[in-house]
Amino acid sequence: MSKRQLAMVMDLNKCIGCQTCTVACKTQWTNRNGREYMYWNNVETYPGTGYPKNWMELGGGFDAAGDLQDGIIPNIEADYGVPWDYNFDALADGKQLTPNVEPTWGPNWDEDEGAGDFPNDNYFFYIPRICNHCTNPGCLSSCPRDAIFKRDIDGVVLVDLDRCQGYRYCIAGCPYKKVYFNPKLSKTEKCIFCFPRIEQGLPPACAQQCVGRIRFVGFLDDVNSQVHQLVHKYKVALPLRADRGTSPNVYYIPPTEAPPKFDAEGNVIEGSNRIPTEELEKLFGSEVNGAIKTLKSEMAKRKETGKSELMDLLIAYSHSEMFRLDNNYYKKEGTNKLAPVDNRYLSGKHTQRISRFSRGN
Ligand code: SF4
Ligand code: SF4
Repeated sequence: MSKRQLAMVMDLNKCIGCQTCTVACKTQWTNRNGREYMYWNNVETYPGTGYPKNWMELGGGFDAAGDLQDGIIPNIEADYGVPWDYNFDALADGKQLTPNVEPTWGPNWDEDEGAGDFPNDNYFFYIPRICNHCTNPGCLSSCPRDAIFKRDIDGVVLVDLDRCQGYRYCIAGCPYKKVYFNPKLSKTEKCIFCFPRIEQGLPPACAQQCVGRIRFVGFLDDVNSQVHQLVHKYKVALPLRADRGTSPNVYYIPPTEAPPKFDAEGNVIEGSNRIPTEELEKLFGSEVNGAIKTLKSEMAKRKETGKSELMDLLIAYSHSEMFRLDNNYYKKEGTNKLAPVDNRYLSGKHTQRISRFSRGN
């Protein structure tokens, strides 16, 4: 465990899939030098193929006994999609705008498709994803160079680029596929939770710019933080695919409000639920049922009485009600704390157990 742990909570009921967060991150960190295809923050449609393609099926993470699981390294062209460009100069000559290569795949290729029969029984929702800055990171345990470490000061997971040799075991070991290979540098790179901003008391760029105001950021041990209250007090924020054994520190408020289903004549089917419970359980575990029950009962309370602390918290009337950070903590501790959490992470404990990792093709 790190001394403290930063966390983010994202309210999926409020995400409108606008990708402002994606652009805020991309323009800040990944718009050049081999990072063009990377999205440290992406927002994908669920159900859908995700980014990279079918990431949930690509292994990594730990089994129930704590053993690291084999994983697959996605292929950059086939599974992420190489960005294409347009002949903008030709526009001045009155020519048609065309892509420079035939696009075959890219992030959000299946955006808004979802599942089911339109219009009576179909559904989708958005899932924004960043690195989860896990308490037990699969990326870190996979690295034979000890190049990935977790900061003791706040639990942020970082790559030491001096140590990284670009072996890519970390990509296979991360069940969320949130580490990326930089072909120009032959190193891997990932979300850094905007730690230079955090150290100044500012939230990550994705959270600051979020149009839907869905993101809460703070320290999990701070009982007054929104993240602590949503995760520990109200228990309505849950990690994604916790069954992969990495103890993620990004949490989600599950989607609770979907339109009802309609029958063939267009009549509302009373009590129907468009988002299948089994899909939510697959993403967030069986705890999702308790979280939804709490959210629905607080919503009803708010409608009846006009009062609900939880609903007020989730509405987030201002930025100060979404972020609770502490630059004085970093001033006091010193911002130069890039030391790993403890020797467990330097022992290569799990690395010895890796039998095989394969590359996507
Ligand atoms: S989400 Fe993946 S890259 Fe991020 S800390 Fe967890 S295992 Fe590592
Ligand atoms: S900016 Fe906020 S609302 Fe827009 S896609 Fe990102 S997380 Fe969703």
